[in-house]
Amino acid sequence: MTAAHRSRTVWVLGDQLNGNLGALKTASPGRDRVLLVESWRKLTSKRWHVQRAHLVVTAMRRFAAELMADGFEVDIRRADTLADGVAAHRRDHAPSEVVAMEPASWDGRQLLYRLGVTIVRSDQFLCHYDDFGEWARGRRLLKMEDFYRWQRRRLGYLMDGDEPAGGRWNFDHDNRERPPKGDASWPQPVTTALDDVDRQVLADLPATVWGDPPDGVWATSRSEALRRLDHAIAEVLPRFGPHEDAMLSNSWHLAHTLLSPYLNLGLLQPKEVCDAAEAAYRDGRVPIASAEGFIRQVIGWREYVWGVYWRSMPDYRDCNELAAERSLPPLFTTGETRMRCVHHALADVRAHGWTHHIQRLMLLGNLALLAGVRPAELVEWMWASFVDGAEWVMLPNVVGMVLYADGGQMATKPYAAGGAYVDKMSDYCKGCVYDRTQRSGPTACPLTTLYWDFFDRHADRFARNPRVVQQVRAGQRLADLPAVRRRAIEVLALLDSGEL
Ligand SMILES: Cc1cc2nc3c(=O)[nH]c(=O)nc-3n(C[C@H](O)[C@H](O)[C@H](O)COP(=O)(O)OP(=O)(O)OC[C@H]3O[C@@H](n4cnc5c(N)ncnc54)[C@H](O)[C@@H]3O)c2cc1C
Ligand code: SF4
Repeated sequence: MTAAHRSRTVWVLGDQLNGNLGALKTASPGRDRVLLVESWRKLTSKRWHVQRAHLVVTAMRRFAAELMADGFEVDIRRADTLADGVAAHRRDHAPSEVVAMEPASWDGRQLLYRLGVTIVRSDQFLCHYDDFGEWARGRRLLKMEDFYRWQRRRLGYLMDGDEPAGGRWNFDHDNRERPPKGDASWPQPVTTALDDVDRQVLADLPATVWGDPPDGVWATSRSEALRRLDHAIAEVLPRFGPHEDAMLSNSWHLAHTLLSPYLNLGLLQPKEVCDAAEAAYRDGRVPIASAEGFIRQVIGWREYVWGVYWRSMPDYRDCNELAAERSLPPLFTTGETRMRCVHHALADVRAHGWTHHIQRLMLLGNLALLAGVRPAELVEWMWASFVDGAEWVMLPNVVGMVLYADGGQMATKPYAAGGAYVDKMSDYCKGCVYDRTQRSGPTACPLTTLYWDFFDRHADRFARNPRVVQQVRAGQRLADLPAVRRRAIEVLALLDSGEL
């Protein structure tokens, strides 16, 4: 058979599960074959949360079945590595060429180059990283807010002519309310009963996975993801804004949309979720602060971190500006700690493979920042533990936002917080064995102690930062600074031994 008569293969990676993306968009059942590879080495490369591993593999298998129902010949195979899977496919089917959409990760793109795969430009984001590069060219600071406004104007979301809808670009200030008093009822997540496909995938996973097994919260097909989107727009979004930053011990999701895994796997596309949010605002079903807050996360933060990732790789992986050299403390893997706030966040991760933004940034990330945990170790843990994890989103969020490890390229100040912040934004401190108002002594809140110790340790650096110079000066004036330093040494020792 000549190459012209052989069919082409479209290789679909595990986070590109949508017929409306890349090479699949123009593929036809008569002409093209589809390849999906389940890599065993990838599945065993990290200590994946079981719900994360289950979600990706199940979604791949369901997507393969949908493509078959559409008439495609699909080769879904398990191989040791992705390269082995492609090589075996080439041996078995001798395609004229193998085509794939650009992967979301640096290593993935390098692999495709090595394998001689024809690469189609990614259309999984509203702003390709080349366009982000154009936007960033010549700018000294890559401010998210500037990028976001550029995106708003370019894409036309929440615009009334040349002006932002509601008269303001950003309603973030309205979205930082404390948790509501009393028992608020939060919209319950949509669930789907597990079926034989789920059970087979669970049986096929390696023994290295950890965490509570899937309970049907995470959708594994496009139709179920669309059902989650409808629910998010109708039930969650109207309440999304004001309590976006609040943390409560009796609700793991509050009014968060829980859409990130679908956006990251291709089951949903950013345009359709923003279109739905805009329509709900225009119909009067969602207030402007909530619609704006949500659209800012998707066309702003999400696309911004994707652009920062590609602009900064591969060196971004090695950033460690604050010379943080502590190993990941044992509590991240055991979940055991007497700090009530951290305990709750880790219990949520175990139960769902998910915690919301503020728990990631201001509890787990904050603890790692204050304690000086090696950036690569926190990236690895979060990437493996969250259902929506991926290197492109984890590196900027952890290295840039949480740990200030890129020296302020992304965040203009370190997001350091003590017990006062946690107490303001949550109900965790009541009932904790530690006292959030104490910074020294055996019952002092560890976050409060480490907060002051952090600014003391890094005083030289941050005294030059106008956004935190006040904290540095306040720390230097503390009458009990020697006692805080002594307690910080004890706290770090307890953290390392798993007894905090
Ligand atoms: C340390 C840390 C690690 C994170 N790791 C991830 C991750 O691995 N994967 C991930 O998708 N998000 C990550 N985020 C961002 C954010 O926490 C999650 O996207 C969000 O909690 C998902 O819940 P949701 O879908 O209910 O989001 P919502 O609050 O409803 O927000 C809507 C959408 O905006 C996007 N978004 C919002 N903020 C960000 C952001 N900072 N970066 C990228 N996308 C964003 C997500 O796609 C999200 O679904 C991380 C944030 C921090 C601080
Ligand atoms: S007192 Fe400190 S450790 Fe305890 S819940 Fe509050 S912030 Fe967390």
